[in-house]
Amino acid sequence: MKRPELTDVGWLGPKYEMDSASHHFGKCSECHEIICVEKVVTDTQNTQPATTEMLNKAFRTHVELKHSEDLSQPLPGS
Ligand SMILES: [Zn+2]
Repeated sequence: MKRPELTDVGWLGPKYEMDSASHHFGKCSECHEIICVEKVVTDTQNTQPATTEMLNKAFRTHVELKHSEDLSQPLPGS
């Protein structure tokens, strides 16, 4: 089984200015669950890198919780 990937990554919020978007989301390629994080508050204007980091972290947690067994154990009957 291949490792799940974060796909269809995008931003939720006003389209006219990317950085005013309020949420960052992506989809798990394995179970198609949507992973969504709120935009983080930082000292700088550019919050996108920090928010992207947050999303990646949330996705890693999702993979550990939902897919780590799939990855570490052989499928039944194989
Ligand atoms: Zn998943």
